[in-house]
Amino acid sequence: MHFYAQHGRAPRVLVTGSLGQLGIGFVRLMRSKYGASNVIATDIRRPSDEFWSTGPFAYADVLDYKGLERLVVDNGIDWIVHFSAVLSAVGEKNPQLALKVNLNGFQNVLDLAKAHQLRLLSPSTIGAFGPSTPKDKTPDITIMRPKTIYGITKLHMELMGEYYHQRYGLDFRSLRYPGIISADTPPG
Ligand code: NAD
Repeated sequence: MHFYAQHGRAPRVLVTGSLGQLGIGFVRLMRSKYGASNVIATDIRRPSDEFWSTGPFAYADVLDYKGLERLVVDNGIDWIVHFSAVLSAVGEKNPQLALKVNLNGFQNVLDLAKAHQLRLLSPSTIGAFGPSTPKDKTPDITIMRPKTIYGITKLHMELMGEYYHQRYGLDFRSLRYPGIISADTPPG
């Protein structure tokens, strides 16, 4: 509601990795809330015909800063929801890819959000904890020594988002999800 009061219109949202487990349902929800044309779904894969028919879709590789920036500028984007990532199983098989997508891809999105004053949501994971984290009533701020490349990159993401918030006033939000499986999409 705050956004409507301030701007007199719905926010325009760009979603990266929108064809993944979280993306499909999230885009559906956001489109029902803010209008289909205000939610630009992106990914590096080809969407199904069904997904195509629900609203705008564009190719966006998070490793390509200029390509992302073009989408943000051309569509007057206000918020970025960043879902592109290489998750734990694939990350352990290909750590170099996880480092590239989860560190460099996130850094591109972070810098883009700063440059264009966008609000940024990027989920984290319980994988950011580790075996030495207290298991009972785990506090938000606690021992975090993840043992997977995925967890390490997500902890880095949390800290960078916090740093950009403190240093540049970026509106960065995150949330540590547990394991989520989708009814629409097989696991990446
Ligand atoms: P997913 O693997 O299903 O989807 C990730 C998407 O990112 C895919 O559609 C893939 O094509 C896309 N992608 C990969 N490389 C890309 C690139 N270079 N440029 C653009 N897109 C690229 O993942 P998900 O389960 O939907 O997870 C979404 C977010 O939520 C991730 O940040 C993940 O870390 C987080 N999360 C997921 C879970 C879970 O259990 N699913 C739990 C905690 C956090």
